[in-house]
Amino acid sequence: MIQISNLKKAFGEHVVLKDISIAVPRGSVVAMIGPSGSGKSTLLRCLNLLTVPDLGTVRIGERHFEFSGRKSRLPKDRELAAFRARTGMVFQHFNLFPHMTAVENVMEGMVTVLRTPKAEARAKAMALLQKVGLSDRADMYPQKLSGGQKQRIAIARALAMQPDVMLFDEATSALDPELVGEVLNVIRGLAADGMTMILVTHEIAFAREVADQVVFMRDGVVVEAGPPSQVIDNPREAATQAFLARFN
Ligand code: ATP
Ligand code: MG
Repeated sequence: MIQISNLKKAFGEHVVLKDISIAVPRGSVVAMIGPSGSGKSTLLRCLNLLTVPDLGTVRIGERHFEFSGRKSRLPKDRELAAFRARTGMVFQHFNLFPHMTAVENVMEGMVTVLRTPKAEARAKAMALLQKVGLSDRADMYPQKLSGGQKQRIAIARALAMQPDVMLFDEATSALDPELVGEVLNVIRGLAADGMTMILVTHEIAFAREVADQVVFMRDGVVVEAGPPSQVIDNPREAATQAFLARFN
C-alpha cells in the first residue's frame, strides 16, 4: 500500500503541490491526469524521493518518511537507496544505456544493485524480455530498436528490481502513435498480474480501462478522485469537465 499524506512542495515561491493526499491499495492502479504544470511529475518524483517534499508523509509498504519543513532532508544513503529500490520508474524518454544490449540493460541493476550473480541475472532478464515480447531483441543495442521496443525494455529493466510499485510518467507520450499500443499492452499485462501502479497519462481511454482510481490534478491540488466511472464519465467538478472536454 502506498499512502501520500498532506504532501507539500514548493520551488522557491512557487507552490507546486498543495496538501496532496492519495492512497493506493496494493495491487491497484491509479491514473493521474491533469493539465501541464499541475504537478503530476513532481508528485511521482516525490514518491521515489528524486524530489524531496517540504511537508507530509510518503509511505510505501513498510517504509515511510515524514518531511517537516526546513528540516526536510533526505534519509541516509543506504535507507534512501533501499526506499528507491521499492519503486520502478518509467519516464517519457527511456534513458537506456546506449552501450549495452537490451538484455544487458535489464541485467544492469540486478548485477550492480541487487548483487545477483551474472548468469542468474541474465536468465531473469531474458524472462522479463519475454514478458514484454522482446526475447528476440535481447542482443540488440538500443539504437537499433524502435521507441516502443526501447520503452518495453525500460519497463523490463524497472521490473528487474522487483519493485513494490511501478510509476509511469507519460510512458507513451514520446512514441509514434502506431507504437503506443504495444507499450499499453505491457502495462495492461502488469495490471492483470496485480502490480501496483501509478500512471501519469494523457491516454484517457486507457485510464478508464485500466485504472481502479483516477486522480485529476490541477494547480497542485487533487480536484477530484474516484473510479473512472465517476471522474472520467461523470465528473462532478467543472475543472474536470473542462479538462476532459479537450479529449472528446
Ligand atoms: P506536464 O503535464 O507538462 O508534464 P506536470 O503536471 O508533470 O506537467 P510538473 O512537471 O510536476 O507538472 O511541474 C509542476 C510545476 O512545477 C511547473 O510549473 C514546473 O515549472 C515547476 N517545476 C517542476 N520542477 C521544478 C524544479 N526543479 N524547479 C523549479 N520549478 C519546477
Ligand atoms: Mg509531467
